[in-house]
Amino acid sequence: MKAVRFVGVGHPPEIVDVPVPAPGPGEVLVKIGGAGVCHSDLHVMDEELGLKGPFTLGHENAGWIAKRGDGVRGWKEGDPVAVYGPWGCGHCHTCQTSAENYCENHASMPSLGGGLGSDGGMADYLLVPSPRLLVPLGKLDPVMAAPLSDAALTPYHAIKMALPLLTPDTTVVAIGIGGLGHMAVQLLQALTPAQLIAGDIDDSKLAHARELGVKHAVNTRDGKAAAEAIRKITGPRGAVLALDFVGVQPTIDLCTHIVGRGSRMTVVGLGGGTIHYSANNPPYGCQVTIPYWGSRTELMEVIALAEQGRIRAEVEQFPLEQAVDVYQRLRDGKIRGRAVLVP
Ligand code: NAD
Ligand code: ZN
Ligand code: ZN
Repeated sequence: MKAVRFVGVGHPPEIVDVPVPAPGPGEVLVKIGGAGVCHSDLHVMDEELGLKGPFTLGHENAGWIAKRGDGVRGWKEGDPVAVYGPWGCGHCHTCQTSAENYCENHASMPSLGGGLGSDGGMADYLLVPSPRLLVPLGKLDPVMAAPLSDAALTPYHAIKMALPLLTPDTTVVAIGIGGLGHMAVQLLQALTPAQLIAGDIDDSKLAHARELGVKHAVNTRDGKAAAEAIRKITGPRGAVLALDFVGVQPTIDLCTHIVGRGSRMTVVGLGGGTIHYSANNPPYGCQVTIPYWGSRTELMEVIALAEQGRIRAEVEQFPLEQAVDVYQRLRDGKIRGRAVLVP
């Protein structure tokens, strides 16, 4: 089968022939319907993140059960599934709560998951090490559902932790309206009564946010002007939550200037920025959080929201063979919503 492989830092991915894996005892082979193209893969290819290639990319996967290894029960061939992406040890306290994204034994695990150290889903088939990592998709189409497992799950987890702050008299700001951000603005509108402001440096992404129902969209290219524009909307209270889906120095600095006292600032993007602290900046009482992905039960909650039609990933579909070009388009900011590779 064809697979999109990470071959080393500084190199574009390569599309090569690899054997179809055979599921051993307790493993499940999933036929891929769609594999989402996440900006994190660009970080993997650009920076020394400790992930050693070669391995098949694709950590945002959905498809159908193709073959069950010995001892796998409770699923049948053809069942549509989302693959839960962060693969933990499965038995520590945190994994037992389904939050394998925070596995206590992550340092001794062979990889972060499929597509992040182990072979991922940008291929015809993905070998999943345990059926516990599968979540039923119900009636959802795997191509449309693939982004739910990361582009929606990650902001869902970040937002859910902050829900008690998001009362009707507050403002939340989401910065970076790409794959994660376009799901975040839908999730915020589905889950909270807070006023919402979207920020991006690309006017077409701001237009996308408006199409998704966001009333206030602010271009953040000039950080000082953006902070003033946002402060004008929030009033003296500032934002109670700033979600940064970019994580570069300008967006982190912007967040520290727009959140109010007693607020929360959440950095999701892995852009390499640093949070500096000096008295009252970020403001007193501000919690800084750095969430990673989400739990498996949260993925079930996200899938329920999609089944109810309250969130929907905007998907640009491409054949697997175009992967190199698609990553370049993502790098150039030319993808609207999420690109999904379809083998
Ligand atoms: P994306 O490329 O789809 O979207 C990024 C968006 O940010 C685009 O709309 C772009 O125009 C905008 N942007 C870029 N630079 C900006 C700036 N300086 N100011 C404002 N907006 C800017 O990326 P994505 O797949 O949504 O991923 C976003 C980030 O989240 C990446 O860094 C990715 O690695 C990270 N990520 C983190 C987690 C986690 O668990 N922490 C999970 C998934 C992705
Ligand atoms: Zn990702
Ligand atoms: Zn664990």
